[in-house]
Amino acid sequence: MNEDTIKRINTLRQKINDADYKYYVLAQPDIDDYTYDTMMKELEELEKTYPLLITPDSPTQRVSGEPTKKFDVVYHDVPMLSLSNSYNFDELIEFDNRVKSALSEEVIEYVCELKIDGLAVSLKYEKGFLTKGATRGDGTKGDDVTNNLKTIRSIPLKATDSSLKNFEVRGEVYINKEDFLRINEEQETRGEKLFVNPRNTAAGTLKLKDSRVVASRPLNVFIYFLRSDDITLNSHSTNLELLRKMKFPVNSFTEKVKGIDKVMKFCNHIDEIRDTLPYEIDGVVVKVNSIRQQEFLGSVAKSPRWAIAYKFKAKEKVTKINSITLQVGRTGTITPVAELEPVFLAGSTISRATLHNFEEIKRKDIREKDYVKIEKGGDVIPKVTEVVLNKREKSSVEFSEPDKCPVCNTKLEKPEEEVYIYCPNYFCPAQVQGRIEHFVHRDAMEIEGLGSSIVAVLLEQGLIKDFADIYTLKDKRKELISIERFGEKSVDNILNAIEKSKEKSFEKVLFAVGIKQIGERTAKLIAKHFGSLDKLSIATEDEIDDIYEIGPSIAKSVVIFFRDAKSKELILKLKKAGLKFELDAEEKTKLNDKFTGKIFVLTGTLSKFTRNEASALIEKLGGRTTSSVSKKTDFVLAGEEAGSKLDKAKKLGVTILSEDDFEKMLV
Ligand code: NAD
Repeated sequence: MNEDTIKRINTLRQKINDADYKYYVLAQPDIDDYTYDTMMKELEELEKTYPLLITPDSPTQRVSGEPTKKFDVVYHDVPMLSLSNSYNFDELIEFDNRVKSALSEEVIEYVCELKIDGLAVSLKYEKGFLTKGATRGDGTKGDDVTNNLKTIRSIPLKATDSSLKNFEVRGEVYINKEDFLRINEEQETRGEKLFVNPRNTAAGTLKLKDSRVVASRPLNVFIYFLRSDDITLNSHSTNLELLRKMKFPVNSFTEKVKGIDKVMKFCNHIDEIRDTLPYEIDGVVVKVNSIRQQEFLGSVAKSPRWAIAYKFKAKEKVTKINSITLQVGRTGTITPVAELEPVFLAGSTISRATLHNFEEIKRKDIREKDYVKIEKGGDVIPKVTEVVLNKREKSSVEFSEPDKCPVCNTKLEKPEEEVYIYCPNYFCPAQVQGRIEHFVHRDAMEIEGLGSSIVAVLLEQGLIKDFADIYTLKDKRKELISIERFGEKSVDNILNAIEKSKEKSFEKVLFAVGIKQIGERTAKLIAKHFGSLDKLSIATEDEIDDIYEIGPSIAKSVVIFFRDAKSKELILKLKKAGLKFELDAEEKTKLNDKFTGKIFVLTGTLSKFTRNEASALIEKLGGRTTSSVSKKTDFVLAGEEAGSKLDKAKKLGVTILSEDDFEKMLV
């Protein structure tokens, strides 16, 4: 294993965590499920090869999602797991082979069901009555949404079978496609945010605080699981029958089949008819029918071994590009966007798609008025995959790269080694607005109430010129209130949010100022390493590059930022406003210890700790463990019979610690 492997593992974890947050918390995914699942698979493979690198917080080890804190927490008696997934029949066959060999059976009986694209819930019945309804949350604990679930008419409040009194059922809450469109129309008329797809609508609705609003939204449920100690449960198919008898809504596209060939036939059939279903599905779930066999197979970290989801690939449709427009980002990047003839695809109407950059346009030879294939899987941001060439107009001409900024008319620039072209004008109104929007974003300074239209008004009225000016708004309360649509209350809310943002940590401030290439995690690493802006602003490229996980191009970008007179001025204004430009005292003490930012290599047999324990301690105190010794290594912790790593450490002059030395460092 080399440092690249560790870097890759860290990058994958970071990307997956980031995608989880966007998917589960913000409900605004920016990658498709296929890409997400491919990254997860790569991480699983790497962890399988290097099991020592598995950490308890790795995304492979937990069911994603979180309780929202708005509701009481419900702990699930039996964890609500995720499902392992497959995108092709080869993987289904592999699954079948694994099951067959584990059970020593020739043919397995499966139940195939639709994979409803909603959110999983658990309903608990005690003494025959529905007592608790909860979301899956992180699999172990979810939100108590009993009252909201009770608004779903198809959920019996009382069990109808006298032999079954204490039990739990699980199922998927969803919203029909048509209802989703109607809800979004209503949202639009009210000027409220639109939902991305039916699943987000269902999830958002179930987590509303006011059950009356929930009742006005047409939530539905399909139940697919039963658990009870009252009677013996033999098979999944008889459970489903029993559930039907008890008047629970069970999906009718459910089939018991023998052997994987029949499973594949079912999957093909469903793929063909899925557009005709009134609700969204994203695949088929295949479950081993016998409960005894299910129990024998058990589960791995976050999914049962007896079930698999066969997921459909992204959907495709053809539509016309009416025009190609240009967007200017906060760092000046010019992004071409296809303005499409609106088309309904996978649960939403698509009228725009990013074309990423001009090399991409050239590579795919995309032109205005072309007919193109649009792809969208699950929640994806739509992608233009290819041009339908035989539909191209004769008069069509290649799309030419712009040479002037569409917003400020400045001549555009293209750095040699990059695919992007930039507007170099720091004061370009689009960049100014973009930087402010980034600064106030919830991941940065989290100033609620300053949405993009309000930022635009503030700029237009000359009340602010850059993000640092936000902190002068408290002296302009009168002017703010006099703006149309601004009430006293909303102005005060914004001013309070601005004041509150001053409590944001140094790492958030560092992220918020919008240094090119500095994402949230990089900002955190840099903040923790240097501890204060004063130290960071005089750091050299080499010193920044020395930080584990940070490369030369990021280091260069940081140095350029702090050399720039405009950034210096902004920072000065922010300092005056009282923002945090160093770590809090508590974090600093941690920084002063011997671990923060340090790289450890463990070698030989340790007697006082297991390797995992030692690594966990190092991580907890701010250090990192890597597997191979290099000049970046700070300490080698050597146990008994340490071999070549110890030799290399000696050669490179790396500090070598015995277990006793290490223990002393801990106190
Ligand atoms: P999942 O959606 O792949 O499968 C598990 C879920 O399926 C269950 O919790 C349940 O809610 C649902 N389900 C529907 N019908 C079912 C049935 N008949 N029987 C059993 N379960 C049924 O897994 P997940 O843990 O909910 O979500 C993880 C998936 O979400 C990832 O694999 C990925 O595809 C997607 N995701 C995407 C992004 C992104 O950025 N695009 C981010 C995070 C997750």
